[in-house]
Parts: sequence; C-alpha cells; structure tokens
Amino acid sequence: MPEDDLLQRLRRFQEDAFPLHADRFRELVDDGQHPATLFIGCSDSRLVPYMLTGTGPGELFLVRNVGAFVPPYDGSWGYHGTSAAIEFAVLNLHVHRIIVCGHSHCGGIRALYGGVPAQARNLNAWLALGRDAALPVAEPGPEVLRRTEQRAVLLQLERLMDYPMVRQGVEANQLTLHGWHYVIEDGQVHVFDVASGQFVAASEAGHAGTGPYPTHVEVKPGAA
Ligand SMILES: [Zn+2]
Repeated sequence: MPEDDLLQRLRRFQEDAFPLHADRFRELVDDGQHPATLFIGCSDSRLVPYMLTGTGPGELFLVRNVGAFVPPYDGSWGYHGTSAAIEFAVLNLHVHRIIVCGHSHCGGIRALYGGVPAQARNLNAWLALGRDAALPVAEPGPEVLRRTEQRAVLLQLERLMDYPMVRQGVEANQLTLHGWHYVIEDGQVHVFDVASGQFVAASEAGHAGTGPYPTHVEVKPGAA
C-alpha cells in the first residue's frame, strides 16, 4: 500500500472515474441539483445509500448521523444539522420523498442499552432521540436489538411529521415517507407498511413507502 493511499485514490477518481460521469456533473452544475429524495441514514460505514438504491450523482440529498435520528421540531433552534437538512430538502429542493434508513447491527441502537463512554457527552445526549425505542431489558439479544432498530425508525417518522413543512407536504400528497430497516447480511431492506404496522421485506413489499396517506404515521404500541 502506498504511503498516502488516500491521495492515490483522489488522483484515481479524477483520472479514471470522473471522466465517465463528467457530462452528468457538468449538467448538475449548470442546471443545479434537483434530487427527488432526502435520505436520512445512519453513519454506519456498511450502509451505502447509493448502492442500495441504485442511484448516482444528483439523486440523493443525504444526511447521516448516529442512529439515523431526527431531532424534534421543538423550537429549541440549536445547531441541529439534521433538522437544517430536512428544512432545506423540503422547502428549497422540494424533494418528493423522505427515507429514514436504520439497519441491522447498529452501534447507535446498541448504545441505547449502555456502553457509551461518559466522555462522549454529545453522543450520550444525542441518543436521547432513540430512547423511546428501547425495550425494558438490561442485556438485549439479537431479536431485541432488531426490534429496537425498527422501532427507532418509526420514532423518527413520527418526529418528521412534527415538521410543519413535512406534514403539509405529506397531507398534500406531495411528499411520501419511507421507513426502512436495512439488513446488512441479507442485502435486503425491510419497508415499514403503515397499514399492517409491520416491516415487510422489499422482496415481498407492495411499495417502498410507508403507505397510504394523508393519515398520520402513528407508532402503534407493540408495532415492530
Ligand atoms: Zn447505525
């Protein structure tokens, strides 16, 4: 491996990969970006939104954080990068859909059950956004973690609906919400279906969204 592998990769991109997409990038610069999708995903390195959705440059407006959490629209007006991205995507870019994508083996969800160093004060505070998804067990097994990951996605959809511009878009049928749980080892997304209150494997699901609107997405007790 070369001493500065990253520099080599940058050069390789510009020389080899970029020319294949140069026209598309030119277009995106001249006409601006018009992504149809806001993708809110966990920061986990194993979640690769472009691969998962078969998309390329200009198609996804991406925001990622630990756990794929959505901060509350609570008037605190802090430095909420994710909230700012949601507002920009809906009000300026006029996206048609918002995906919230959690995943299997999520360290952020696991951290809801402990193991976060006290020094990680920001992380500890951030995890509050997933707390309500946690189940009352001290040592979660794989099934509990899976359920917590899915419940967390629903919590975020709930919070998204508290953003006035999101709610208005959904109620006007201009915006759809998509709650996804990606199972890394299967290469399969499970889509939350609001009608059945279940996550359904994409191979069997009738649609990629949470389903019929304008009804509000409710987190049903016991769902997921
Ligand atoms: Zn994660």
